[in-house]
Amino acid sequence: MTHTFFNADGIAECDVLIVGGGPAGLSVASALPDDVRTIIVHQDSEIGKPIRTSGGSWLLDMKRLGIPPELYLVLNQSEAYSDDAHVVLPLTENKAVILAITKLYQWLAAQSDQKQRELLLATKFLTAKREADGRYLSQIRNRDGKHRQIRSQFIIDGSGWHFAVLVALGLREKPTRLAVGIEYEFPLGNNRPDRAFIFTGKTVPSGYGWGFPTPEGTFRLGVGVIHPETDASPRALIDHIMATDPEKRFGVDLSGEYIVNGGILPSVAYDPKLVFGNVIRVGDSANFATPTLGEGIRVCIEFGRVLGKDLGKSVKTGRRWPLWHYEWRCRFRMQKDYFLGFVVNRRIAHFTPQNWNKSVSRFGRVDEDVLTEAMRSEFRFSKILRMAYFAVRDGTRHRLRNRRRKKGKGTGV
Ligand SMILES: Cc1cc2nc3c(=O)[nH]c(=O)nc-3n(C[C@H](O)[C@H](O)[C@H](O)COP(=O)(O)OP(=O)(O)OC[C@H]3O[C@@H](n4cnc5c(N)ncnc54)[C@H](O)[C@@H]3O)c2cc1C
Repeated sequence: MTHTFFNADGIAECDVLIVGGGPAGLSVASALPDDVRTIIVHQDSEIGKPIRTSGGSWLLDMKRLGIPPELYLVLNQSEAYSDDAHVVLPLTENKAVILAITKLYQWLAAQSDQKQRELLLATKFLTAKREADGRYLSQIRNRDGKHRQIRSQFIIDGSGWHFAVLVALGLREKPTRLAVGIEYEFPLGNNRPDRAFIFTGKTVPSGYGWGFPTPEGTFRLGVGVIHPETDASPRALIDHIMATDPEKRFGVDLSGEYIVNGGILPSVAYDPKLVFGNVIRVGDSANFATPTLGEGIRVCIEFGRVLGKDLGKSVKTGRRWPLWHYEWRCRFRMQKDYFLGFVVNRRIAHFTPQNWNKSVSRFGRVDEDVLTEAMRSEFRFSKILRMAYFAVRDGTRHRLRNRRRKKGKGTGV
């Protein structure tokens, strides 16, 4: 790590300023070439704290991304509940994992320890302006409350749902449709260390809840809802769930003191424009979280690294095509899938408890690959056809059963 020297006018110079030390910003930094001078400003005092995410992901992705196994916990049983249905999800080929968030983010930060990189904690990006030579002069407020400036050739907006840089430069507005989540984190107690569940229905309107063990030996119960689809406060919802015997409903042990985590995530349609001249967005400020489950960490790591490599080429050669490559890679991977995922997102945001009963019963019967791809917002045409087949098949069976039941009643059988 290098030391930033603010000159007598309180200005530091670098090639790349990254705003936000979440998984997206840290992954960009880790993939930039060693000699690209980079400053990361992060408004929290520590990387990975406070926790604002729940950290569910997939084993195959963690292996593919080279994440050390001690940074995640593999789940052997995943279940889903609605008000009247309960199924074990067929997740055996690609198991779900729970990430050790603080340790993972600190590991991501450590990947650029040897580089020309300065990490300024407790430092907030305030605003920026473009100078005559095309560089940007950003205003920051650091730990001691003093205002300083950073001059950079590029600015990366990795500020999550804040869209801090995009808003400051008038490039995009802050999203108004948001997934808002809260979690109560208990000691693990008697909970199985490899079993997780999700739940839907009347206790979580326009959203879903989850319960799972963590690699840190705790157990988290959480809910996330979409605003403004509902104006319910996630805090009020989880308090209500806590008051209605969740131990019995989900077979969990929620004893002991708990701490509270909470976070916000944009829940808006994918917008493929990521590069605005020398201002580039990544992660939640580029809507990278999947529209079906709101899962963004693995996507931020993967495409944050793509941006780091491409941006490195652009800094060194002065050419723009590597940045278009980044935008195209993301568009190729996300545009169609996220469009379809967002259709699902909008539809399930208005699901009734009865819709959920039907869907959850179906989760237990579909093939594993159909279910995982839907959960991951990956919609291959063949899988869409198979999902449609399952929906039609189940609907027909349901109608036939109802017809037989009615006939039986009519004849007095
Ligand atoms: C309740 C909840 C549950 C979730 N569950 C999952 C899950 O199970 N699995 C999964 O993969 N994803 C999950 N996500 C999504 C995941 O957390 C995000 O997709 C991911 O964190 C996005 O990373 P990021 O780096 O883009 O942004 P963030 O993680 O939001 O990091 C951005 C950082 O920038 C900092 N920042 C913001 N503004 C400024 C500024 N002006 N100056 C300096 N710093 C600034 C913020 O403090 C923040 O720490 C969940 C999200 C929420 C809210």
